[in-house]
Amino acid sequence: MTQPFDDAELGALLDRIVAAVLPTLGQGKVADYIPALAAVDPNKLGIAVTTVDGRQFVAGDARETFSIQSISKVFTLTMALELVGDDLWQRVGREPSGTPFNSLVQLEYERGIPRNPLINAGALVVTDAIVAATASNPPIKAILDFIRVRAANPGVRIDGEVAQSEKAWGYRNSALANLMKAFGNMKSPVNEVLDTYFSQCSIVMSCADLSRAILYLANGGTDPLSGEKIISEQGARRINAIMLTCGHYDASGDFAFRVGVPAKSGVGGGIVAVVPGRMGIAVWSPALSPQGNSVAGTRALEQFTAATGYSIFE
Ligand code: GLU
Repeated sequence: MTQPFDDAELGALLDRIVAAVLPTLGQGKVADYIPALAAVDPNKLGIAVTTVDGRQFVAGDARETFSIQSISKVFTLTMALELVGDDLWQRVGREPSGTPFNSLVQLEYERGIPRNPLINAGALVVTDAIVAATASNPPIKAILDFIRVRAANPGVRIDGEVAQSEKAWGYRNSALANLMKAFGNMKSPVNEVLDTYFSQCSIVMSCADLSRAILYLANGGTDPLSGEKIISEQGARRINAIMLTCGHYDASGDFAFRVGVPAKSGVGGGIVAVVPGRMGIAVWSPALSPQGNSVAGTRALEQFTAATGYSIFE
C-alpha cells in the first residue's frame, strides 16, 4: 500500500498534470459537425477540482468557458428523475450501448427504447420528460436555472451561435427523435424537444463551474456547500453507476479501465468526473478521440487518479 494522498497537495498536482499533458496536445480532432465548434482552439487544456468541504483548485485554462454539450445530459437526467421518478426507466434503459453517441441502428432494433440516458436518443427521452412536466415554463429556462444554481454562478449562459448551428445541422438528432415518436416514446412535440436539447448542449461553462456543479453527486445527492438536497442517495448512486458504465459512449469500458471514476464527456472537449465522498473534477481540451471523448482530458484524469489513488476501484 502506498502513502495515502494528502489533499493539501491538490493545487501542486493539478499544475504538474497540466505541465505533463501540455506537450502531448495535438492528438485527436476538434468536433467539426458544426462550424461553431470546429473553430475552437485545440491547444486548450484546463483542469479544476472542487472538494466536498468547499476548496477549489484550478490549473491551465480552467476558468475559460466552453460548450458543455453532452455533459448537460447528467444534469437533465437528475432533473427528470426528480420529476418523474422510476417511471423514466420504462422509456430508457441503463445498459452501455457499445455504439456511437448518435447511432440510429440499435434504436430501430430495440423498438424506440434507447439503451441509456447518456447517448443522444436516451438524452432526448430525458429532455422530453422535462418538457412534458414543465409545460407552463420554457423548459430550457428550468434546465439553465438548475445548472446555474448547481454551479453557484448566475452568469452561466447559452451560446446562441452554437444553439443555432446545432439546430441547422441537427439531422441525426432529428431522425432519432422522430423515430422514437413513431415508436410512441416521445410525448411532447418533436421540435420542442429538439430545441430544448440543442439549447442545453449549447450551455457554456468553465472547468471551475463544472467541478462545482457536479458536487452533489460526490456527496450522496446533497449539495455539500449549500446543504440543498438535489436527489436521493439512491438516485445519486444510480447516476454515478450510469456515468461509469455509459458516460463515454463506445469508449466507456476503456475510460473505466484507465481512469476508474464515474464521468461524462461532451464533444466540446469537456469531461466532468466524480470522486464519491471527496470531490467534483472537470477537465477540458477540445481535441477528441474517434469516439468523441477529449484525448488530453482523459489523459489528465488518468494521471490524476494514478497520482491520488482516487479511482473507485482502489
Ligand atoms: N450536440 C451533440 C449532439 O447531439 C452532443 C454530442 C456530445 O456531446 O457527445 O450531437
